[in-house]
Amino acid sequence: MNHFLLHLDSVLIASSNEKHLSAFKEMGDFASFKGRIELVRVPYLRRVQEEQRVYEFRLKETVGKHVAPHATWVAAVWAVLTRLKKPVTDRYKSDLKKLADHLTPLEKARLYDDGGAPDRLSNQQARELKKHLQELWKESDSYPNYEGRTGASARELKTVISNAAQNPGYKCLTPQAVLEELEALTRDKSVYEFLQQEVVDGYHDHEEFVRVAEGEYLDVLDEEVREAMGLISEKQYRTMFERYVLHVLAWTRGERLRNPHTSEMERPDEEMMAQTESIVMAGSEDRREFRRGLISAVGAHRLEHTEGELDYSQIFPDIFRHLRDHFFDERKRTLRKNAEKVLRFLGDERGQLSSREQQQVADTLRGMQEKSGYCENCAKDGIVLLLSKRYTD
Ligand SMILES: [Zn+2]
Repeated sequence: MNHFLLHLDSVLIASSNEKHLSAFKEMGDFASFKGRIELVRVPYLRRVQEEQRVYEFRLKETVGKHVAPHATWVAAVWAVLTRLKKPVTDRYKSDLKKLADHLTPLEKARLYDDGGAPDRLSNQQARELKKHLQELWKESDSYPNYEGRTGASARELKTVISNAAQNPGYKCLTPQAVLEELEALTRDKSVYEFLQQEVVDGYHDHEEFVRVAEGEYLDVLDEEVREAMGLISEKQYRTMFERYVLHVLAWTRGERLRNPHTSEMERPDEEMMAQTESIVMAGSEDRREFRRGLISAVGAHRLEHTEGELDYSQIFPDIFRHLRDHFFDERKRTLRKNAEKVLRFLGDERGQLSSREQQQVADTLRGMQEKSGYCENCAKDGIVLLLSKRYTD
């Protein structure tokens, strides 16, 4: 300051450029600054929802078209994945060591994002992992190459999003358009230094992360479309199996059950049990044997695991695979049929649908609009994508 003498207690200097900082450290003068400087690191964001907020800031005003649900979210998922490092497992003790070693980049991102542990873990393992979340988060604080130092920058992603918005193939800014831009970006290895990193157990596999982000998006989209069509979800067939076990238990004991709707005591529902068995049981098996075997397996599991809720999908993985396959096939047929109707409705063939079918499609579209924010254009794009990626033969 030319004309003033300022008495300052502290000065804050910021740089987003690690290379300049490293060069400064090499300078002769740095030695005299060193003792007077407190370096505060600000890594790239490692939580998807925070990253997403960065992209959404004033987005609607700048893109000039409808922003489809999850368009910024897929970008944020990919960006965060590019920044994560594989945990250095030697830093952790026994059980945790193995958990940290097997953690995939997506699982780590989810853990950071909302504290959710991978489904493949037992309740106890999930608790263990969540308990040590802070250690994982802070693990690399002292490393020169800390987590969040490298990877895609928010600025690069904002460019990706604005390019995706220009894509003439989509009427809205869609997740598909964003994924296409990301795919193109990962081919430019000479432009982006972070793309040259070596892949370590799936970490830094930036091309694969585009597919991972797409898979995440398809899961959410699938759920939304299914819900808008009123089709059965994974949660519902779990509930159905729980009800089945309850009735089988009463059947083996010769007891009656209280009907939750009428409060009457009733015999176990033979029709419902037989229906479930027709899906999960091999044709040659004896129904009675099957039921008894089921109940003793639940009992044995209870003896070993006295804590926590019963998770039937862990006791009967085979049965659940059958149920899942069965419902998936059934759902696939219904979803394809319904989806084709939606596409005809939005195309030029609306008149060829019966009034009942038109009503059904209108309900689906309204569901997607009200619950998730799709307009007709991005609903159509989403359904086309879902059909081609998840529901083809
Ligand atoms: Zn839209």
